[in-house]
Amino acid sequence: RISAASQSAATSAATASSFVPSEMKAWSYSEYGGVDVLKLETNVAVPEIGEDQVLIKVVAAALNPVDSKRRAGKFKATDSPLPTVPGYDVAGVVVKVGKQVKDLKEGDEVYADVSEKTLEGPKQFGSLGEYTAVEEKLVALKPKNIGFAEAASLPLAVETAYEGLERAAFSQGKSILVLGGAGGVGSLVIQLAKQVFGASKVAATASTPKLDLLKSLGVDLAIDYTKQNFEDLPDKFDLVFDTVGQGDRAVKALKEGGSAVVLTGPAEPPGFRFVITSTGETLKKLNPYLESGKLKAIVDPKGPFPFDKVHEAFSYLETGRATGKVVIYPT
Ligand code: NDP
Repeated sequence: RISAASQSAATSAATASSFVPSEMKAWSYSEYGGVDVLKLETNVAVPEIGEDQVLIKVVAAALNPVDSKRRAGKFKATDSPLPTVPGYDVAGVVVKVGKQVKDLKEGDEVYADVSEKTLEGPKQFGSLGEYTAVEEKLVALKPKNIGFAEAASLPLAVETAYEGLERAAFSQGKSILVLGGAGGVGSLVIQLAKQVFGASKVAATASTPKLDLLKSLGVDLAIDYTKQNFEDLPDKFDLVFDTVGQGDRAVKALKEGGSAVVLTGPAEPPGFRFVITSTGETLKKLNPYLESGKLKAIVDPKGPFPFDKVHEAFSYLETGRATGKVVIYPT
């Protein structure tokens, strides 16, 4: 078990970067299942870093639906071995660097999606611990103007949004409909389409209480899915970005020659599915937009949840009603 002395040293490791304990606190599960399989352990080994990796002292983390699906055993066949410390999204401070690390140094404030491949061999020791080891190429410096909680909310969701728009060859002057515009990914697809890709028109779906949020993110047409079926509207789009699992309906809202990005559930041509690959390059590209305030992190107002409330945070995420991202902070 970790001693009180080494625990307080771990807490200050972010500033005095010389000391890293051998054990840490982390949320971990040893069998697949519901939220209850997740236990807060106090003596998990701090991950060793590879030559191309940095060790990050976690300051904030964020949850993604894939954490829940993975914990349920949905990706058993390609998962890393149990026990698992879940968590893809991290913001924190570099406390150790591997021999081949070129650009990062101790003390750097960074953020990342820690698993390059989301479903195939994701990190066994993810971001819901005090430390996590990450390849330098997945990491970017944290924009200076945003806090750790906001930074942690971004990587997996914004990289998914960006990769989806790129794969669909979305470009200036095109129109887009975002299904699930108030969610973690959808709220960022809206902003990227408008602010980065130069969309001519952005529409999005959400339930009644979330329509104002959609408008504040820049949508031209906010569709209340409790009152209207988007595919019955006269508006048709160059791209439909489906974060809900409505691939069959998505294709009915396309202009001729349009396409649909589908994140979950079956996709029907010309719609296509893909799984995000983590890369720090996307975060580096987007940092200027975050620094100028054109792109904003959307942290669910029910959070951030402190580290000891991870069960509550997952239960909330799993209602499917989150607004923006569910963040864990302070850790
Ligand atoms: P969230 O948990 O953030 O999504 C919650 C949001 O979905 C809520 O704001 C809710 O709004 C909205 N929503 C639910 N049902 C509907 C509906 N019928 N119409 C419109 N909005 C709806 O999830 P994420 O954004 O993080 O992820 C979305 C999905 O994409 C998940 O299944 C996830 O696993 C998957 N995903 C896949 C990736 C890939 O690489 N393939 C990468 C990232 C995510 P309201 O309360 O108004 O209903």
